[in-house]
Amino acid sequence: MSLRFQAISDLTNEPNEVNQVNAKKITSIFGENVFTLKTAREYLNDEAYKSLIGSIKGGKKIDRSVAGSIANGIRAWAESKGVTHFTHWFQPLTGTTAEKHDSFFSIKSDGTAIEEFDGAALIQQEPDASSFPSGGLRATFEARGYTAWDPSSPAFVIEIGQGKTLCIPTIFISYTGESLDYKAPLLKALEALNNAAVDVANYFDKNVTKVTATLGWEQEYFVIDEGLANARPDLVQCGRTVFGAAPAKGQQLEDHYFGSIPERVYAFMRDFETECYKLGIPLKTRHNEVAPSQFEVAPIFEEVSVAVDHNSLLMDIMDRVARRHKLRVLVHEKPFAGINGSGKHNNWSMATDTGVNLLSPGKTPKTNLMFLTFFVNTIKAVHDYADLLRASIASAGNDHRLGANEAPPAIISVFVGQYLAKVLGEIESRVGDKFDEQDEAILKLDIHRSIPELLLDNTDRNRTSPFAFTGNKFEFRAVGSTANCASPMTVLNTILAETLKGFKKEVDTLIEKGDKKEIAIMHVIQKYIVESKAVLFEGDGYSEEWHHEAERRGLPNVRTTPLALDAMVTKKAKQLFESNNIYTHAELEARHEIELEKYIKKVQIEARIIGDLALNHIIPAAVKYQNTLLENVNGLKAAGLPASAYKSQLAIAAKISEHVQVIFDKVHALVEARKVANAITDTRTKAIAYNSQVKDAFFDDIRYNVDKLEHLVDDDFWSLPKYREILFLR
Ligand code: ADP
Ligand code: MG
Repeated sequence: MSLRFQAISDLTNEPNEVNQVNAKKITSIFGENVFTLKTAREYLNDEAYKSLIGSIKGGKKIDRSVAGSIANGIRAWAESKGVTHFTHWFQPLTGTTAEKHDSFFSIKSDGTAIEEFDGAALIQQEPDASSFPSGGLRATFEARGYTAWDPSSPAFVIEIGQGKTLCIPTIFISYTGESLDYKAPLLKALEALNNAAVDVANYFDKNVTKVTATLGWEQEYFVIDEGLANARPDLVQCGRTVFGAAPAKGQQLEDHYFGSIPERVYAFMRDFETECYKLGIPLKTRHNEVAPSQFEVAPIFEEVSVAVDHNSLLMDIMDRVARRHKLRVLVHEKPFAGINGSGKHNNWSMATDTGVNLLSPGKTPKTNLMFLTFFVNTIKAVHDYADLLRASIASAGNDHRLGANEAPPAIISVFVGQYLAKVLGEIESRVGDKFDEQDEAILKLDIHRSIPELLLDNTDRNRTSPFAFTGNKFEFRAVGSTANCASPMTVLNTILAETLKGFKKEVDTLIEKGDKKEIAIMHVIQKYIVESKAVLFEGDGYSEEWHHEAERRGLPNVRTTPLALDAMVTKKAKQLFESNNIYTHAELEARHEIELEKYIKKVQIEARIIGDLALNHIIPAAVKYQNTLLENVNGLKAAGLPASAYKSQLAIAAKISEHVQVIFDKVHALVEARKVANAITDTRTKAIAYNSQVKDAFFDDIRYNVDKLEHLVDDDFWSLPKYREILFLR
């Protein structure tokens, strides 16, 4: 029996036991596996505790002399939970998380066995990093890389089965200081934003000393049965299906979106949520998404760096817990053709240490002006660096959403809602006017009270915008579901830092020339509105009109990853990242190279899977069925029946031959195209070739013919689970 029928029979005959999780109050388990400050207070002596706090709050380096006692405290806590091993946990550019476990166990020179965790092991480790991507950095500079503790992110304990491991969140850098992970540049970007935003916030409130960017992600994903997934080599190897005819019923009835969560999936959700709560991930919502078998989970927002860690952890945990339930989680942006793909909306804002959300419309003219300042600066940043934002979310998987017939489009535009669009328009229409005291009218615009109601009307309805203002935060919706949020967050926070620095310079200049502060601010806001209004768009982002309109406005619309990535290495990008201390030129070049290579490899693997499935699954099934048909024809002939009796059989056999022939020829040509692409030495040219000469030239054509065969061939011969089974059986 093929894996397909085995899986279906397993599902029908021995329904998977629903693994019930004991319901516990969330507050009773929340953060129990995290070395929180409260825990630190319990396990650390005064000196160690103070040093740790200094590092967390002030970003200071941990004092080597106290590292030992911090390590001891962390070990004591971890051992009280039954932990035997520790690992430096980091987020390399492969896009997953990395760990290398070491035990606390050690043998002293006199042969005594002890458990220890010294300060050096806490602070720094040298993973064998040679196989992590470095974009040539390590070759150019130094062979080794090391991981270094990032105290701003708390240590935690991961439970895998009975095993428990202490995880120390770290950044990953080369010996010469180049960052090799997602986290190091992110922390720098957050610091750049903090500095620039505090300066500007001080125009309005001198008490602000720290601005923290906040992130609330929404993770979309599919959950399918393990047996069915295992019978699809494309799902196992690529995380998406490369073939599959559309089922009679897809998402047209929208019954999944409104339906209740299936019990088996619900048990899985509760299980992984419990794991997340223990790790201090503040999950808040869960629900069905539009496509069948598609779901979403979202936490309460947190500081960006912690939220990024938590999202990486979540993806890990979901994958592991799903296996426990004999399910598979797919976080690929487009696992199935013809139904919605998955994204990871990044809700983003900034909060001051005085407790103010800088993107929340204020109650008084002064706070309104502060809101307008950060709001307009963000729009300007997105306008000026739209290409970089696009690059930050570019990946082979996300190309199936952006630039395909799916939301959001590859054109980066900003949606602000009718009311704020009107406010901006009003300010803009006053160009040439001198703002003076009479302009209190503008400063007094009742943004605060008007926005909430208007949002209900507008913002929620426009789901087609890649970057939307949603009342008290911006929502970057174009981020792909597999992405590490650090990538878009590094860019977003950097470009805003840069824009705010420019803003401050311009305002200060006007003040020096004698403008009153508020008037100076209004003038620069006005200037920024004029300069960036091309990026504002309130209409339907999917529409054909918008593509034309965007082109007229000169907005970039880059549909494919290899070209979108160009933005990373422009002169403008290099200058931006260097002057804000995020990336050196060499680091940018390296990252560009790594992203291109990732793209090439993804397409390469898919191309191989397409060839493999076509030759080893599809064509054999088709030929087998053809033989059955021919046997039947011969039988009918022998029985003396007229040609009309086997006309259809022959027609089907002929149709099958046609498709088989096309598939065979195209797979052959695909292999040749790959060889040609592989011979290209320039990475960018090679990535472009993989996109146009390999993917675009063959994938859809081959798929079209395979999907036609799926409709023709006897169901019994078809070895790959069909969409109707993968998406609807559990
Ligand atoms: P919705 O109606 O779309 O569910 P919510 O305001 O409840 O809107 O939030 C959606 C997401 O945005 C959640 O993950 C939430 O935590 C996050 N969010 C809310 N406020 C902020 C903020 N100030 N900064 C970052 N994320 C936020
Ligand atoms: Mg949303």
